[in-house]
Amino acid sequence: MDNITPQTGHRHYGMVAYDQAGKPICHVCGRSFNALLTHVRHVHKMEPRAYKLTYGLNVTKGILSEKTQSKLKAAVSKNLEVVLENLSRGVRYQEGHQGRTRDKLSEQGRQRLIQYNKERHPKQNPTP
Ligand SMILES: [Zn+2]
Repeated sequence: MDNITPQTGHRHYGMVAYDQAGKPICHVCGRSFNALLTHVRHVHKMEPRAYKLTYGLNVTKGILSEKTQSKLKAAVSKNLEVVLENLSRGVRYQEGHQGRTRDKLSEQGRQRLIQYNKERHPKQNPTP
């Protein structure tokens, strides 16, 4: 099998090719990037899932250079407790970031939160 993408005739259909430095090569433009999917989203205006489906890639797997992957792995093991807690809450960790505290919420966001809580817990927050 030659691994040619049906729509574009691009090589490497169903697989990710890497350059000599270990960076994954973009199926669209042929250039290589540490974080390929970030490039795809910004430059080609394509969501990672659509990109992976178009080029026959596994939608559940990330595409990173080995260098970026080991940097992320190191950051995860360094902050494992925070990462696990954030994963369970569905948020991501960024070093040095304090999160969005109550005083940082915009007035509009604060009003939405109040409204949301009223709808969610009508007994605790009775509307006057
Ligand atoms: Zn590209």
